[in-house]
Amino acid sequence: MKCVYCKADVLNGDPITVSGLGPAHRGCFENSLVEQRVFRHLNLRSLPDADLRELLDMAKMEMNVREAEHQSVDLWEDDVLFC
Ligand SMILES: [Zn+2]
Repeated sequence: MKCVYCKADVLNGDPITVSGLGPAHRGCFENSLVEQRVFRHLNLRSLPDADLRELLDMAKMEMNVREAEHQSVDLWEDDVLFC
C-alpha cells in the first residue's frame, strides 16, 4: 500500500488510514495538516480575514485571562508563605 502523500510504501513508516483519502504515513499526514493550516478540524485558510482576526483576538484574550489567573495564584501562594 502506498502513502497518499509521498507515494512510498506505508509499511516503511507509521501507517494510518486517512478517511476519504486512504493509507498514509502518520508523519506525512501531520505535515499535510500544518501545510493546510488545519487545527482541530478548522481549516484556517478557509476563514475570511474578519473571522481569522476575530479568532486571533479571542486567542489573545484567552491567553491574557490564563496569565492573569496564573499570576493571582502565585500572589495568593506568596501571601500564604508570609503569614
Ligand atoms: Zn508518506
